[in-house]
Amino acid sequence: MKTPARPAKPARRAMTLAEVRTFITQLAAANPDARSELDFVDDYTLLVAVVLSAQATDASVNRATVGLFRDAPTPKAMVELGEEKVGEHIRTIGLWRTKAHNVVSLSRQLLERFDGRVPYDRAALESLPGVGRKTANVVMNVAFGDSTMAVDTHIFRIGNRTGLAPGASVRAVEDQLVRRIPADMLRPAHHWLILHGRYVCKARRPECWRCPAFDPCQYRLKADIRAGAPAG
Ligand code: SF4
Repeated sequence: MKTPARPAKPARRAMTLAEVRTFITQLAAANPDARSELDFVDDYTLLVAVVLSAQATDASVNRATVGLFRDAPTPKAMVELGEEKVGEHIRTIGLWRTKAHNVVSLSRQLLERFDGRVPYDRAALESLPGVGRKTANVVMNVAFGDSTMAVDTHIFRIGNRTGLAPGASVRAVEDQLVRRIPADMLRPAHHWLILHGRYVCKARRPECWRCPAFDPCQYRLKADIRAGAPAG
């Protein structure tokens, strides 16, 4: 994943570890049942959905996978369906040609190398077509229960903007989050942070006036934004 642009010094300072705990606790309280917004039924359909979600919204992926997973719910069925028909199912999402190729190729490799199963192994996952570190982290977190942190554009922004986990690269932010978030909160924190970035701490204008984690946040402009909250 390309490192998203990082605004100059958006946070006053890095949060203290106590503030990190409070921040995550407050996000958790606001959204206790946070889960992936991608639709899937097992490890295989999760992997395919995450591969398809690169540079696409979860809602657009879900619309495409209804028919795709009906016709091809397993690696064998996906290979038999073939690139052209897979492409017809996913034509509405970005980069569909490349993704159709990758989905069929990774399905073939699952059959040939892993007995048709999704491997519980980071290196093996990252060796599959279309699967990078972020996708592997999501699969290891959601399918296998590992305390991994998949840093997407939302989490990268929140890490830097709020002082939660400042870092110049996606990997630096991931490492900071893994180090700084309490171990017992790390696995679900992935979902809490993504949903917070999608719906509250948005890219263009964070909605600080309705933020459940206002106090520990170190964003320089949060008070100004709250003061200028829309009426009603
Ligand atoms: S106060 Fe504003 S900048 Fe800070 S986490 Fe909340 S929404 Fe984001």
